[in-house]
Amino acid sequence: MIEYNTQQDSYCFNKDEIDFFINIGIVVTQRCNLRCIHCCEKVQPDEGNLSQIKKIIDKLAENNIKKICVTGGEPLLRKDIIDILKYIHSKKIDLTFSTNGTLVTREFLEKIKPYIQNIRFSIYGSEENHKAVTQKEDGYKIHHFVMGFISLITVPI
Ligand code: SF4
Repeated sequence: MIEYNTQQDSYCFNKDEIDFFINIGIVVTQRCNLRCIHCCEKVQPDEGNLSQIKKIIDKLAENNIKKICVTGGEPLLRKDIIDILKYIHSKKIDLTFSTNGTLVTREFLEKIKPYIQNIRFSIYGSEENHKAVTQKEDGYKIHHFVMGFISLITVPI
């Protein structure tokens, strides 16, 4: 239940119910290998090391957060990305992994499979549009990759 207080223009949450609807996004890096025209990420010099990120995850777990989305920038540019996913999983938190997909390999998917519930990619319409938005040849790769996935799981009508 969320109650809105019109006098104070504020919301009141029941803490026990928070885990049903809050999904926290953790930006583990703002670096990216694409240059999307709409991107608002600005690379910061210090993106936080593994132990700093673990402390944030600890805090969220202590506060009963049940869903986290790991995002960026492009999270795969971090060398310790698998350690981050593993740690979130160890806290029994549902995990969505958001990536632009250009660096995803089958080997990487096999490694992260035990830790994540969802993987999220963005596709900007047609191949031509996708390339125009991401402003990189690499942008094409994810379009082919995701369309390949979809063709595997879709039954032709
Ligand atoms: S993939 Fe995401 S982070 Fe990278 S440039 Fe595009 S919008 Fe920005």
